[in-house]
Amino acid sequence: MSSMQVPLLDLRRQYQSFKAELLPVLERVCESQWFILGPEVTALEAAIARYSGAAHAIGVSSGTDALLLALMGLGIGPGDAVLTSPYTFFATGGAIARVGARPLWADIEPTTFNLSVTAVARFLDEHCRLEGDALVHRASGTRVRALMPVHLYGQMVDMQPLLALATRYRLQVIEDAAQAIGAEYHGGERAGSFGDVGCFSFFPTKNLGAFGDAGLCTAQDPALAERLRVLRVHGGKPKYYHAVIGGNFRIDELQAAVLNVKLRYLEAWTEGRRRNAAAYGELFARAGLDGTVTLPVAVPGLRHIYNQFVIRVPDRDRLRQYLAENGVGTEIYYPVPLHLQACFSYLGARAGDCPESERAANETLALPIYPELEPAQLEYVVDVIHRAYA
Ligand SMILES: *Cc1c(COP(=O)(O)O)cnc(C)c1O
Repeated sequence: MSSMQVPLLDLRRQYQSFKAELLPVLERVCESQWFILGPEVTALEAAIARYSGAAHAIGVSSGTDALLLALMGLGIGPGDAVLTSPYTFFATGGAIARVGARPLWADIEPTTFNLSVTAVARFLDEHCRLEGDALVHRASGTRVRALMPVHLYGQMVDMQPLLALATRYRLQVIEDAAQAIGAEYHGGERAGSFGDVGCFSFFPTKNLGAFGDAGLCTAQDPALAERLRVLRVHGGKPKYYHAVIGGNFRIDELQAAVLNVKLRYLEAWTEGRRRNAAAYGELFARAGLDGTVTLPVAVPGLRHIYNQFVIRVPDRDRLRQYLAENGVGTEIYYPVPLHLQACFSYLGARAGDCPESERAANETLALPIYPELEPAQLEYVVDVIHRAYA
């Protein structure tokens, strides 16, 4: 078997496909010398709202800032708590703590790696009590205000029963849809159209990536959308008059211009990722590896957009090393679940509290899945894994 280089992600090939279209657009922005919150941002907000099936969209500086802004917009802060998954990118839990609220963790489903609705229900039942309208977390005395489901790797959380719990306990819902633009639920509804706020990231490695940092909040309620817009510019309304304290959560015109062009390609890229995932499925089965390697489970009826293609394997670190030696890039998302991060030790969680998250952190590995991969590269990845277990 000849050797080959298969990076985890290669954005240079993709760039060549839209470069000719993009450069005149960037030139137009440069000639205008209007860099912040202008026509490109307005167009992007309208396009993403339409694409995601949300009523409103507010472009922001990053996915992390989208989460922070969502929490601020819902008035969540000290004395409050937000329940989320510990098996996610750090920003999910970090944003909750940064507004002064307490992150609470419920475990994931081992098949999808997404927040388990059963675990959420059990947590609310066993660890919280209703005091009038307020749901209080017994151990800390904080008031549970919101659920923050994360549509991990590009597949949606089971939103219908989760929203039923939110209604029952009067909780807000913030979707961390950073990895899930264009992911669909059973009726074809898209990520970012379910929660009070949906948070997207346009970090370059996301399916719709900017040329730097950028993000966006979707919202359904016009008053909340307006609050997010005002908080985005330090809370000034009118300018220089501050009834509330916001921050600088603005998105650049240049980033919005890049995203407006790339958005036209997003469906085709997503289909490319889905094709590659299907091809992996066939290749792993043909290699007789389907018993050794647990492939990502695509829930029937949902549209998985495969921001990542994450397998579960025995002896993960050895396989990763072997793939690296053979030119295949991989990544571990995420080696330490949030409840076990040093910075969250003050919350008092211990190893064993979220066993499925901990097991996933030890067993999972992301393989290259980007749409420009050649069939020969997919075959090569599976061949190398076959050799690793031979
Ligand atoms: C990428 C990501 C974020 C943060 O987005 P940035 O744009 O990098 O700030 C938040 N949550 C999840 C699940 C992510 O994958």
